[in-house]
Amino acid sequence: MSGNYWSATVPASQPRPLAGDVTADVVVVGGGYTGLWTALTLVERDPSMRVVVCERDTVGFGASGRNGGFLDPSLTHGLANGLAHFPDEIDRLQHLADDNYAGMLTFFARHQVACDFEGTGMLDVAVAPHQVDELRESAELHVRHGQRAEFLDAGEVAEHLRSPKALAGLHRPDAGGVLNPAKLAAELARVAAAAGVDIHERTPVTAVKATAGGVLATTPAGTVRASSAVLATNAYSGQTLRRSNRHYIPVHDYILVTEPLSPELLASLGWKRRQGVDDAGNQFHYFRLTADDRVLWGGYDAIYAFRSGIGPRFDERPETFARLRAHLGQMFPTLLDVPIPFAWGGPIATTTRFTPVFGEALGGRLVYALGYTGLGVGATRFAARVLADRLTDPGSPLLSLRYVRKPPFPFPPEPLRWVAVTLVRRALASADLHGGRRGLLLRTLDAAGIGFDS
Ligand SMILES: Cc1cc2nc3c(=O)[nH]c(=O)nc-3n(C[C@H](O)[C@H](O)[C@H](O)COP(=O)(O)OP(=O)(O)OC[C@H]3O[C@@H](n4cnc5c(N)ncnc54)[C@H](O)[C@@H]3O)c2cc1C
Repeated sequence: MSGNYWSATVPASQPRPLAGDVTADVVVVGGGYTGLWTALTLVERDPSMRVVVCERDTVGFGASGRNGGFLDPSLTHGLANGLAHFPDEIDRLQHLADDNYAGMLTFFARHQVACDFEGTGMLDVAVAPHQVDELRESAELHVRHGQRAEFLDAGEVAEHLRSPKALAGLHRPDAGGVLNPAKLAAELARVAAAAGVDIHERTPVTAVKATAGGVLATTPAGTVRASSAVLATNAYSGQTLRRSNRHYIPVHDYILVTEPLSPELLASLGWKRRQGVDDAGNQFHYFRLTADDRVLWGGYDAIYAFRSGIGPRFDERPETFARLRAHLGQMFPTLLDVPIPFAWGGPIATTTRFTPVFGEALGGRLVYALGYTGLGVGATRFAARVLADRLTDPGSPLLSLRYVRKPPFPFPPEPLRWVAVTLVRRALASADLHGGRRGLLLRTLDAAGIGFDS
């Protein structure tokens, strides 16, 4: 088992690398969701704007083409996390999240975006006794904040998913759905190109410097001279903008995809509403059905490599693949022997508060957003609006949100960073094994609003 299932579902692109020197209004570095949504937002606002996207590899090469495809409307990595970090803003952020999600669905319809979106809602399942009450409380919290959420006891959760591990559930019917992430990236590129955005794949940006009138982005085969730059390189940002390094770490997450299930095997799972599912552990799994009825099963191990290591050697991890395979069989015993042709990994950029960091450099001529943790499919579109506002609408009320203005608590430098992440990962695993009880380290970090997640 190896390789990314999603990339096998999109035709190979025909890269058109930058050749020579060009000028533009805005140069965007990175052809994932952040870069593509930002480019689109800019040209939708002003069709005369010249926007050039430089992508080192191909569109969707990074997390955007490798993720689980859960489209959760939350901008705050869930309501509880948003409430903990932005208590005064949470209702506004929830409203902005709903608005962002509705805007995304309108965009899909208007541009006939073929990304296999299914508006299934989300299901969380308790897989340990202490998680049952956690889900009950979470259901109450969502309802208090005006969201539809239903706590499901063991009998009721079996109506949604048949698994010996599922002890209870939390069903959020309006909480987004699932899609094919690589198709979404390819479709965003299609719509952006049709709107006049120039996309150059196989075009690594090696430097962005301030010039008298703006910025100069350098690539091996030419330059882009522009008024402003957008850095949309997420987990890869430390390679281009060293200062962003303090605010995020790359964490590698891994996914398996089975062969298409036979109708009998699919029926054995009782997964009638096809929701995207998470379990409620600190080290959690996420799983869903694909459009052709395969099971995608990912998560649990979130691997941090010393010195924020990132690159192809982290994209495969046989020991994690074996662990995930065993866990899949425990959740769904009928899938114990199902063939698993696809397995891959990718870097998630996470911050200490699990929400993105917005920043600028070169005297405001370069802006960036990164660090969506495991919920970037929806949040990148909102971040793109913020980035576009920073460049074209400095009076925008979005820019005064604490969510946007206040950077998260920084990670310590190495070697302390590695030690801290390792200790926190161990403490989280231990809490899972001991009825969810959080030890002194986690309680101290909770009080300070600092965490580790994927
Ligand atoms: C395994 C996994 C599972 C996930 N599951 C989910 C999920 O189910 N739901 C969800 O909401 N989120 C999920 N996420 C997170 C989500 O995928 C990301 O938050 C989102 O894709 C970030 O988009 P981005 O455009 O900012 O970054 P990326 O998609 O990583 O794009 C950055 C791009 O920049 C390019 N680049 C880097 N350096 C340069 C350079 N110097 N010059 C030019 N280009 C450069 C890279 O090649 C890359 O294409 C998951 C992530 C992973 C890895």
